Order: sequence, then C-alpha cells, then structure tokens
Amino acid sequence: MTVLRNKGFDKSKWMQLPRDVLVGHDVLGQLPEVCADLSLGGSVLVVTGAHTMKVAGDRVVRMLAKSYETRTYLAEEISPATIAEAEEEAKEVRFLVAVGGGKIIDTAKIASFNTDRQFVSVPTAASHDGIASASASVPTPEGNLSLSAHPPVAVVADTGIIASAPHRLLASGCADIISNLSAVLDWELAHRIRGEPISEYASTLSRMTAEAMIRNADLVKPNTEETAWMVVKALVASGVAMSIAGSSRPASGGEHKFSHALDRIAPGKGLHGEKCGIGTIITLFLHGGDWQGAREALRKIGAPTTLAEIGIDEATAVEGLLLAATIRPERFTILDMGMNRGSAESLIRMLSKE
Ligand SMILES: [Zn+2]
Repeated sequence: MTVLRNKGFDKSKWMQLPRDVLVGHDVLGQLPEVCADLSLGGSVLVVTGAHTMKVAGDRVVRMLAKSYETRTYLAEEISPATIAEAEEEAKEVRFLVAVGGGKIIDTAKIASFNTDRQFVSVPTAASHDGIASASASVPTPEGNLSLSAHPPVAVVADTGIIASAPHRLLASGCADIISNLSAVLDWELAHRIRGEPISEYASTLSRMTAEAMIRNADLVKPNTEETAWMVVKALVASGVAMSIAGSSRPASGGEHKFSHALDRIAPGKGLHGEKCGIGTIITLFLHGGDWQGAREALRKIGAPTTLAEIGIDEATAVEGLLLAATIRPERFTILDMGMNRGSAESLIRMLSKE
C-alpha cells in the first residue's frame, strides 16, 4: 500500500481520555472490578485525606486490600512537599487511586504523572472539573496554576457519596462549568486576534455543557443523587473537552486568571469554582455575553455572585482584576484588552449592584 504524503500537511494529535467512567448509585462497590478490568497491576497507593478516609477511603482500602498490596497516603493539602511525598509512595506501587476532593485528586494526578503510573479518580465531591481532566491546579511561587498532567485512566463517581457532601462544594462545581462559557469566548477571541489554534469540537462541547448547566439550574437541589448525577456528567464532559483540546483552554479563560489572582492576594477566601463563577459575570459582561443569565443561574444553584459573599472587599478585587492579566500572559483573554484601574474599579462596582 502506498502511504499518501501530502505536501505541507504535518498535523498530528495525541488525545488522552479516561477509559472507564462509572457514575451513579453505589458504584463505589465496583471499583475493584474497574481496577481488574484495566489490569492496573498488583499494588496500589490510595491517596486520600483524614475526612475523605471516613467518607469513602476506608471502604476503598478494605475492598482493594482483598486483591492488591495496598498502601495509603493521607494528603490534607496540595503543596510541593505533599506531592513529593506522594511521589515517593507512588514509586512503591503500580497504580494510584485518589479518593477525595480537588486537592487530593490533583496531588494523585501529579504524583502519578511524574512517576509514570496510572491513577483512578474517586471524587467525594463535585467541586471542580479536575475530576476527569488532565490538568491539575498546583501551587507555585506565582500562585495556583493549571498545569497539564494526564487524565485519570478511570473515574468512579458514586452519586450517593457526592450527594452527601456539603452543597457548597457542588454549587462551586456548577459555577466551574458555567465558567466554560466565558473561557470559550476568550479562546475564540485569542483565535481571531492572535491566530491561536482553536478546536471546534472542544469549544462546542465545552459551551454546550455550560449552556445545559444554565438551562438546568432550577434542577440543582442540595444533597440529591439526581443533581450529583447531572453535575458529575457535566464535569466529565468538561474534562473531555479539555482532553480534545490538549489543554485547559476550553474551560479556563480570564475568569480563571482572576480566580488565580485572588488565590494569591486573598488566600483561603472562596472556593475555586466560586471565584471562577464571579469572574465569569465580569468577563461575560466584557464580551457582551449574557452575564445576567449566568448570574441568575449561579443564584439559583446557590453559588455566590458577589465578592462580598466570599469575604473579598472591592479594593482587593480591583487588584485581583489588574493582577489577572499578568498571570499566564501567553493565555490571551478579554482581560488582556487594555484593562486599567478605572475600568477595573467600575467593573467591580457593577458586580455589587443588583
Ligand atoms: Zn476550574
């Protein structure tokens, strides 16, 4: 057979996606089957936290210990030190299982990536779209940044466990999904102004997921498995959009840079998705998008829509907006279109008005 060699065509693509995704009632019980199905090896490191150990980690360790040599690493925080410790533990095993929220999943994601192990994501909350994605939020001297690692080889999301977590976490996850709307507009802007390559499949999937979340905001009810089911599927879809793009671009634009800026100047205030949701109101306004619609959906979901609700004052928020443009400058967004102190101040004032 003759292989065609088109002159000038040199595109190629490597896409990594989770292979098994289990979502639903009591799917935690199927975790050993998932690990066996994927032939992940004979020894496992369970990365979890003190609280998530009680919620699901204990059961995971008991189930896996029947068939695997099982070690446990408790990570309360994500930091260069905990990542390094988790990596040392990971070297002793063939694969990792992360049982917990964003920090734990991201710790396992990076430790498994750096040690060339697979990892299985077992989220105990639906608080952000990292549960199925290749990107991890990691602390750096410049604040938290989304870095590329690899996606989990499998996701086991038990809706009973996720529905039992505080509603604030799930609302934050919904806000992270809604932020895809402005992230995609930023991507399209960078495509038009800077010629940045864009994937129509990734941007369409990401936007569709955000629009469905806004449309279904009325259906988001605290502590129900139906809601957990809807939100987990949206978070997985968002992760898939990032995998198609090969970066966090479809789900992370100016609103994420604003959130990262606030991480730096107001540490500990507000959850990741909460800050991104508030940032989305600002960036959608700047894009001429339906910022009121997004704000209304965030309210219905129970996510904050003002900075006061997460304990950040106006002066700090203005600094955050100005700082946002300097974070990850290669990621061009609407915040890089000549924002100055005056415009930042009026934007922040607009947010606190009805
Ligand atoms: Zn996010």
